[in-house]
Amino acid sequence: LYVDHPLGEGQSLALTRDQAHYLFAVMRLAVGDGVLVFNGQAGEWRTDVAVANKRNGVLVCRAQTAPQRNPPDLWLLFAPIKKARTDFIVEKAAEMGAARIMPVQTRFTNSERIRQDRLQAHAVEAAEQCGGTFVPEVTDLAKLDAVLDNWPADRQLMFCNEAEAGSATRLANATPDPWAILIGPEGGFSEAERARLTALPQAHVVSLGPRILRADTAAVAAMTLWQMALGD
Ligand code: SAM
Repeated sequence: LYVDHPLGEGQSLALTRDQAHYLFAVMRLAVGDGVLVFNGQAGEWRTDVAVANKRNGVLVCRAQTAPQRNPPDLWLLFAPIKKARTDFIVEKAAEMGAARIMPVQTRFTNSERIRQDRLQAHAVEAAEQCGGTFVPEVTDLAKLDAVLDNWPADRQLMFCNEAEAGSATRLANATPDPWAILIGPEGGFSEAERARLTALPQAHVVSLGPRILRADTAAVAAMTLWQMALGD
């Protein structure tokens, strides 16, 4: 369970209404039962239920059960698409260990805004479900051009370019993190974007195979290729 609290021996953790409902009404836990929690920074802790009500509750931290484990320094940049597919991308990126998830607005991106809070909640749920101790930050929608204006000198970019579609690229001789992956929208990248991205010194222009994949499939395929070459 993800908790937005500092963790330490003897620390009391007040539960939100949703968490109390989940633990006591859905999971049927009671006072004295154990719950594993993490806050994204302090590893995993065993807690005991001290107060169990329908709408609130308190856990008390007993002992750390696992140290903090952070993913590699990988950002996933993607152009938001339809709501359900955007949710899917965020969920899968969190499961596969992206450190930061960055929706970007490109020339052919249809969405003008996103619900950052909803997407962040999806990332929390995904981290809870895969037993991680880390929750990736989901940033607010930013223009791709502005992100590239401030691109860090030491961050390599796996630019997934549908115009390269051919045999899938192997990231040979790539050096370890920091890295980023960029996936375009359903309409693909504009010629101007492609030119700018290809000229970026940190860019590796990558094919994900001979077929044009949907953006959500492409995000998972790209993270898998990256993980095969570099990740853990
Ligand atoms: N409308 C574009 C077209 O028909 O050429 C397709 C865009 S595709 C649905 C969405 C994004 O997924 C692309 O911008 C790219 O980042 C990625 N992508 C999909 N298939 C790819 C491939 N075979 N190689 C590299 N990137 C790919």
